[in-house]
Amino acid sequence: MFLEVQDLVKSYQTGENAFFAVNQATLKMEAGEIVVILGPSGSGKSTLLNLIGGLEKATSGSIKIEGNEICNLSSKQLGIYRRNFVGFVFQFYNLIPNLTVRENIEICAHLGKNPLAIDTLIDKVGLHAESHKFPSQLSGGQQQRVAVARALVKNPKLLLCDEPTGALDYKTSKEVLELFEEINKTYNTTMLMITHNDAIKDMSHRIIRIKDGRITHNTLNTHRKHAK
Ligand code: ADP
Ligand code: ADP
Repeated sequence: MFLEVQDLVKSYQTGENAFFAVNQATLKMEAGEIVVILGPSGSGKSTLLNLIGGLEKATSGSIKIEGNEICNLSSKQLGIYRRNFVGFVFQFYNLIPNLTVRENIEICAHLGKNPLAIDTLIDKVGLHAESHKFPSQLSGGQQQRVAVARALVKNPKLLLCDEPTGALDYKTSKEVLELFEEINKTYNTTMLMITHNDAIKDMSHRIIRIKDGRITHNTLNTHRKHAK
């Protein structure tokens, strides 16, 4: 199993009481799976994603990636895990404004052990003609493509996305989704995504619902549709 989360808890002390942002979450993902996390605002989606990505530390429970426990890693070891293993894509692209498209991607290439060829990746995300432009010269969809390429250039085994199409219109969302599917097929990248975008739900292999920090549903997507 690629990822195994067992009885994961993240709690915050609020005065006298503990508040459980993630409460006894258990889930498994196979390599190459695309899984979508759904749930109301404040239900713990981002916290769960951040725990799996090593951006936050769990209160208790276990997260195993390819059999290796990450919950007891030091901050330094977690940093290495994130760099080598995980790509992140957020709603807002967070590109570096004074670097070109190519440079934005290039600075992340050395982070992984087996980086992808930068120009091949730029072609794959359809930005060949834009590679020497700056982020401010690009549309939202193009900027998100750069953000996806930047997350992928180190060839992470795990791609974590928090509302990756949240700032995009329908058409550009669709382009970014097609890109995710293609990347998933080409590199067998395992993907865990938070989204309200129906098209992402449609292309996922499995859908997880979370409510008040608890996973309430974990179902195979039997109506899987491809982005194209
Ligand atoms: P259920 O009660 O069946 O677990 P939810 O209440 O989580 O379902 O979600 C109902 C529908 O609303 C689903 O299609 C889900 O994708 C969508 N949804 C869930 N959370 C949000 C949200 N914060 N904003 C917009 N849509 C959402
Ligand atoms: P979602 O992504 O589903 O909107 P989050 O994972 O961001 O939910 O947050 C889950 C809950 O945990 C929310 O009620 C939020 O207010 C709470 N929370 C998140 N971070 C902290 C923190 N640092 N201290 C206290 N509560 C927090």
